[in-house]
Amino acid sequence: MHIAGKVDVNDLPRLCPLLSRKTNPRYGDRQTRGVQVGRVSFGGERPVVIAGPCAVETREQTLEVARAVKGSGADMLRGGAFKPRTSPHDFQGLGLEGLKILHEASRETGLPVVTEVMDVRLVEQVAEYADMLQVGSRNMQNYPLLVEVGRSGKPVLLKRGMAASLCEWLGAAEYIANEGNLEIVLCERGIKAYPNGEYARYSLDLNVIPAAQAETFLPVIVDPSHATGVSDMVEGASRAAVEFGAQGLLIEVASDRLDAARPRCDAAQAISPRTLRRIIHFIDTRQEYVAERVHAA
Ligand code: PEP
Ligand code: MN
Repeated sequence: MHIAGKVDVNDLPRLCPLLSRKTNPRYGDRQTRGVQVGRVSFGGERPVVIAGPCAVETREQTLEVARAVKGSGADMLRGGAFKPRTSPHDFQGLGLEGLKILHEASRETGLPVVTEVMDVRLVEQVAEYADMLQVGSRNMQNYPLLVEVGRSGKPVLLKRGMAASLCEWLGAAEYIANEGNLEIVLCERGIKAYPNGEYARYSLDLNVIPAAQAETFLPVIVDPSHATGVSDMVEGASRAAVEFGAQGLLIEVASDRLDAARPRCDAAQAISPRTLRRIIHFIDTRQEYVAERVHAA
């Protein structure tokens, strides 16, 4: 039986000729095409750590968290100025003011910043303040938005739709590439599965990391914060992701120093700067071990 619209990975060279390894043999079976964001390189030897608040809530909070993640060894800063919230009555982000705060935090710490753009009309504005544009899970198949971020020429962090197959995810990336922009980093962020909400927010699909890397030369990173929704699970998920070959992590951090205790957004999944430091320490020591093994071989 033939089902209309059904595709599998065998169709990828036709669906994604710009991004499939099969149609771009110069990247071979393993080589990643590096993506550069300022001084940060995705797809190199070392996984990149992006960290910061879920949302930009205040200038004080954002600067505090930015300094803390820098102190813990993060490579890049994250933070949402435009937030995709389930209810329109929830905090939606500070918008333009949030972008300006992020820009200031980025300048002060020297960390390049990634932030989400949700609206095709705002791509230019967000691109003025951000070093990398994030397309969120809910917008992975917003094709006009993908075209516009492709045209912006900025590096793009493309999150996997929470119910998207690998083909749909790579098809979305192909829209960006089709505008002449190959500066794309893929981000697995947990998928919908039967037990969601029982003990974790989503299900972290570790298996998709090597699977995506086998099909495309784009770097693949993991967001352990949204994938689990539970702060106590974030460190283990980060380590597991790195062991599965993730080329970076996107992690939500809250300051433990601020009086205004809990963040307004995703508080249950935020980790402390100290836990972030441990995750980065894990990456550093693992890197030494990998380097020694390569040396010994
Ligand atoms: C985020 O990273 O800020 C976010 C909203 O994530 P996602 O789109 O994966 O839900
Ligand atoms: Mn969040």
